[in-house]
Amino acid sequence: MSVLTAPPVANLAAHFIDLENTFGAHNYHPLDVVLTRADGVWVYDVDGERYLDCLSAYSAVNQGHCHPRILSTLVEQAQRLTLTSRAFYNDQLGPFYQELCAFSGYEMALPMNTGAEGVETAIKAARKWGYTRKGVPADQAEIIVCAGNFHGRTTTIISFSSESQYKDGFGPLTPGFVLIPYGDLDALAAAITPNTVAFLVEPIQGEGGVITPPPGYLAAAAALCRDRQVLFIADEIQTGLGRTGKRFACDHEGVRPDVIILGKALSGGFYPVSAVLSDREVLGVFQPGDHGSTFGGNPLGAAVARTALRVLQDEGLIENAARLGAYLMQGLRDLASPRVHEVRGKGLLVGVELTPAAGPARAYCHALRQRGILAKDTHHTVIRLAPPLVITRSQIDWALTRIAAVLAG
Ligand SMILES: *Cc1c(COP(=O)(O)O)cnc(C)c1O
Repeated sequence: MSVLTAPPVANLAAHFIDLENTFGAHNYHPLDVVLTRADGVWVYDVDGERYLDCLSAYSAVNQGHCHPRILSTLVEQAQRLTLTSRAFYNDQLGPFYQELCAFSGYEMALPMNTGAEGVETAIKAARKWGYTRKGVPADQAEIIVCAGNFHGRTTTIISFSSESQYKDGFGPLTPGFVLIPYGDLDALAAAITPNTVAFLVEPIQGEGGVITPPPGYLAAAAALCRDRQVLFIADEIQTGLGRTGKRFACDHEGVRPDVIILGKALSGGFYPVSAVLSDREVLGVFQPGDHGSTFGGNPLGAAVARTALRVLQDEGLIENAARLGAYLMQGLRDLASPRVHEVRGKGLLVGVELTPAAGPARAYCHALRQRGILAKDTHHTVIRLAPPLVITRSQIDWALTRIAAVLAG
């Protein structure tokens, strides 16, 4: 019998939730919906209920769930060759590099698997660039980061989180990071020292509550970094690849970061693929043996990512995110709910910030679930709405009706 066959139990959802709670570490607190299949913007639970996915696995399934073209690449490549390790060349990685560089406009890429590994890779590149190119004394490199950041969960990355829960109990922490307020140019200028190698920033803070910085901030920060010989590193793991209605969120301000980190939608949700993109000046610092990953750059991931990139472009998903994101945000504002403090975001990365009197966002996510919409609260007061970029206008109208009902109480 296949591992996919449903077990003969009366309450399937309760069964699977119980298994997760009994045998899994409790490092998440999911909504009590158990999903079993998906198609495009829709996900289905084990009882056959259908939901509109407004989280998109934190923007990993921008192309829509189980996209048929990415699926057929996955199956075809899985039957040919899945993993070689980087001890040998393979016939998918080179074309993936070439296509990713053409898409992004950078000279070089370095592939990893998860977003956090991409961030770690960018940190290592920036430090080595600082020591070998900028002349920073050994072990003195500083990287400036922003309050409210989310860059992943490794020991080094949580070391510079401003969220105490992310780091309490996990010390000793990695030194070399300087925290400044997000969106504050003066703070950035004041924080730069001769030992600063990089400024690591999210163009929009997704996990932080869909926080958009003041207009012009990214462009001015990038210019400041250029003047002071500091690498401007954009973490576009959540905001990149069409989510905000542009190729990258930095494109909204015409900013070309020195280093850009991608993940999530780079594989359309099929397989973990992340990458750091930059020019020879930066990624050229890596010598054989400096850095690596057994699965990073594997032919299965590379093939999947190649098709995921094509789908974004061939199906006009970036333009769709711009058009329908504006439509969704206007629709949310037109609801004029007294429970909503602010609707903000870019493209299809939308945050609905509730008023203090409205109560916790999680309660609204439960209510949305009852009406067939899956969304995730972030920072207790914000409902994040980030459906797959394949969503249509009529599906957004469908969602707005239900959101209106929930926000009306
Ligand atoms: C999700 C995310 C990460 C971490 O990616 P993982 O694949 O979970 O390691 C890093 N940065 C940002 C902005 C993210 O949204």
